[in-house]
Amino acid sequence: MDRVLKSYTLHNFLSIPQISSLSEEMIRDIEIVGRVLPFKTNNYVTDELIDWTNLETDPIFTLNFPRRGMLDKKHYNAIERLLQENADEEIIKQKVQQIRLSLNPNPAGQEHNVPYLGEIKLKGIQHKYPETVLFFPSQGQTCHAYCTFCFRWPQFSGMNELKFAMKEADLLFKYLRLHKEVTDILFTGGDPMIMNAAALETYIKPLLEPEFKHIHSIRIGTKSLAYWPYRYLTDKDSDDIIRLFELIIRSGRNLSIQAHFNHPKELSTDAVKKAISRIRSTGAQIRTQSPLLRHINDKPELWSEMWRKQVDLGCIPYYMFIARDTGSKHYFELPLDRCWQIFRRAYRQVSGLCRTVRGPSMSDHAGKIQILGVQEIRGEKIFVLRFIQGRNHKWVDIPFFAQYDPKATWFNQLKPAFGEERFFYEEQRSKLEITKPFLFE
Ligand SMILES: *Cc1c(COP(=O)(O)O)cnc(C)c1O
Ligand code: SF4
Repeated sequence: MDRVLKSYTLHNFLSIPQISSLSEEMIRDIEIVGRVLPFKTNNYVTDELIDWTNLETDPIFTLNFPRRGMLDKKHYNAIERLLQENADEEIIKQKVQQIRLSLNPNPAGQEHNVPYLGEIKLKGIQHKYPETVLFFPSQGQTCHAYCTFCFRWPQFSGMNELKFAMKEADLLFKYLRLHKEVTDILFTGGDPMIMNAAALETYIKPLLEPEFKHIHSIRIGTKSLAYWPYRYLTDKDSDDIIRLFELIIRSGRNLSIQAHFNHPKELSTDAVKKAISRIRSTGAQIRTQSPLLRHINDKPELWSEMWRKQVDLGCIPYYMFIARDTGSKHYFELPLDRCWQIFRRAYRQVSGLCRTVRGPSMSDHAGKIQILGVQEIRGEKIFVLRFIQGRNHKWVDIPFFAQYDPKATWFNQLKPAFGEERFFYEEQRSKLEITKPFLFE
């Protein structure tokens, strides 16, 4: 079936054909919460993914539509009052901005990963780990729909001073010429697959030239398979996209689509199955990742089902993340202990082909920290942790220990175990300068 993308936002969501399934309260919640957190969905999500008979608990509805609990009570009440009073649009905007700034809009010190080229700050690049450069093309800083938990939400809210983006492909190429240690470039966003094929080509084609032979892998981080699989099927440049993927493979590079799936439902439609198959036919790999989210996927069975379905479709499970400390995190967060329980219960139910997945992992300032488990050693209950990725690569894969804390939901709440004052890597970390994204020694 051909589909033409139709987006719904705060301005037109009342025209969604199934909207009469919503109660008055739900509509009011969308209008209030949607003022603060970005809201966008589309006709694929509404027609093929959401179960409109079960909205109270439908995970895909929760994934796209603002719900009351996503906003702090006092923030919710403040906006509700302003709307009831028919307050001036300017006054509402100011309040909204004030609330947004209180929601930790840029978590984990990401600005520390932004490198320089001489004096020029490369606002659209993050280079945290030596071998991988993240690039945020400015035309790719939106998505086919918005996730209510998104940690890049300021990008969609007009908070431009917090936005990572750049247009100048030339600066990217200059940077990569100087950094031969980089083997992987990861296009990210937003969603780079929102770009048309011609725009994507201007970034990718030059990378296939011999001068960039140190770039072995091109990765594209995208939610398009879950939110708009027609990108690869019936959009007017979908054949050009497929040809571009083939060109990357023919150049001898690896192409990895880092696909973002949060729930097995997103793998169930004909459209997504066809899109996966079409991408795989180019020789590209599809690796999958998702954060663990209360109200959406906080059951081991959902993860084991998701990983199995992915392997059935030829995808490779890659990461399970812990939701970041930003935006509406309080609505989605789970204690670290619970995250690990969900991971291991799911992991033990699946074959080795699914066990390529790693997690649960937190993207902290210092690196990607995995919870290996909970143990008791000589009477002290502890978390066993390790770096999957570290700002200093010497830290990677060394087990380390934190005091067990049943309530902790993020790494910064943990303290070293066994009476230690610091974690093993913290001495070296204090030496890091902001302009130097990582240590090479
Ligand atoms: C996760 C991540 C990467 C890629 O890490 P891989 O383990 O190679 O997939 C690169 N840069 C940043 C900032 C990351 O968070
Ligand atoms: S697809 Fe990714 S960047 Fe876009 S809204 Fe969802 S989490 Fe955010």
